[in-house]
Amino acid sequence: MAPTIAPVNTSHPLPASTTVVIIGGGIIGLTAALTLAERNIPVVVLEKGRIAGEQSSRNLGWIRKTSRHAADIPLAQAADRLWAQMPERVGVDVGYRQAGIMFIARNEAQMAMHEQWLKGVEPLALGSRLLSKQEIAQHVPGGQGDWLGGIYTPSDGRAEPTLAASAIANAAIAKGAVIIEQCAVRTVQTSGGRVSGVVTERGEIRCEQVLLAGGLWSRRFLGNLGINLPTLPLTCSVLRTRPMNGPTDIAVGAPDFSFRKHIDGGYIITQRGALDAFLTLDHFLLGSKYLPALKSQRDFLRISMGKYFFKDLALARRWKADAVSPFERVRIQDPAANNGLNDEAMRNLRAAWPVFQNAEIEQAWAGTIDITPDSNPVIDQVSAIPGLVLASGFSGHGFGTSPAAGHLAADLVSGQAPIIDPAPYRFTRFA
Ligand SMILES: Cc1cc2nc3c(=O)[nH]c(=O)nc-3n(C[C@H](O)[C@H](O)[C@H](O)COP(=O)(O)OP(=O)(O)OC[C@H]3O[C@@H](n4cnc5c(N)ncnc54)[C@H](O)[C@@H]3O)c2cc1C
Repeated sequence: MAPTIAPVNTSHPLPASTTVVIIGGGIIGLTAALTLAERNIPVVVLEKGRIAGEQSSRNLGWIRKTSRHAADIPLAQAADRLWAQMPERVGVDVGYRQAGIMFIARNEAQMAMHEQWLKGVEPLALGSRLLSKQEIAQHVPGGQGDWLGGIYTPSDGRAEPTLAASAIANAAIAKGAVIIEQCAVRTVQTSGGRVSGVVTERGEIRCEQVLLAGGLWSRRFLGNLGINLPTLPLTCSVLRTRPMNGPTDIAVGAPDFSFRKHIDGGYIITQRGALDAFLTLDHFLLGSKYLPALKSQRDFLRISMGKYFFKDLALARRWKADAVSPFERVRIQDPAANNGLNDEAMRNLRAAWPVFQNAEIEQAWAGTIDITPDSNPVIDQVSAIPGLVLASGFSGHGFGTSPAAGHLAADLVSGQAPIIDPAPYRFTRFA
């Protein structure tokens, strides 16, 4: 069962026109909408299913710089600042806590990866440091794991996805944004060579700019316009425990499990070393772009071919504006949790920190991530269609950077100075 988010005051009537339409009511579309509404720019968010019904309510809530690609760190630093301001900005505690994140290593190869990352980001002065086995035991007492060492960033943290999405949506609405659920956008309209509106399942909206923040659906949306965004889906399964006395407030990522404290005192747990790759046609079409990533990450993937292949195949890749689109056929991407992976995570965690023997499982779910070949998102204008901006492909780490990523997307849409240098997020790098 997927997590439910706090209620959002969405609207129903479709306006005839606005300045900006945002396609997708995930955390990226919502943070962009909030930024635009704060600038008094009329904005309408259209969501085919439920606000944050896909990745943005299902994620683990980690907000990290640790292990991020160096080029992606300025966005994460900007996001840290915006997360800290969030309670004041949205008037709600969204669970942001700078409680630190620690990754721990069992062998020299894993440790070498952390050392190499730390060396690469030294000039950024993130406050990250390597930990000895003894220091891990001091920070996270009661352990029985045989760790070689780890890496720790005290300024990393977490927030609650289910609180953040609704608080940001409600704050955007309070500042004038319109958010409509159950309203799929089928395509964009152009006039004089640039965006002039969108066609939805309920009619048209005229607008000057469109931000596509459709998560894993952005590839299909753009494909219908003849534009190739090379994202692939991967599925991650998650567990949540009831409130319990855990060993630490720090989020801990081991090679084959991770845990972080939930605001209610429970823990969010996953098998950090495994993602399900349910093959689709796109895995075959885009496979060659992913060969370098596959070489280093093959051990992470549980590749299988089954019902998802045929479900995906049955969804149209090309459609007309007056025809039912794939976005109306799949209101919410809701994959089943992989109980085998969740059991593995729990077993590994209990062996490492036996206090989790007492953990009672409250909920299990899964979510589908949109990965790019270099694991960084695209936040850029779509040059083939002036007036269309894309913010997608967050590759399993877009919740943490979302306040800054949405801000950057809003900057591009409204022609304002970008919050950070957008160069790492250019679409042309996949040309
Ligand atoms: C299990 C899991 C764990 C994760 N853990 C973390 C973590 O700890 N830290 C972290 O930083 N990130 C994490 N992530 C990644 C993070 O959740 C995503 O990067 C982020 O939520 C992406 O937000 P989004 O708005 O781009 O996409 P989404 O949340 O997927 O939202 C896109 C929305 O667009 C809508 N949509 C698509 N097409 C249309 C259309 N044509 N018309 C109308 N609506 C449309 C969809 O219905 C969807 O609601 C995790 C993800 C998963 C699944």
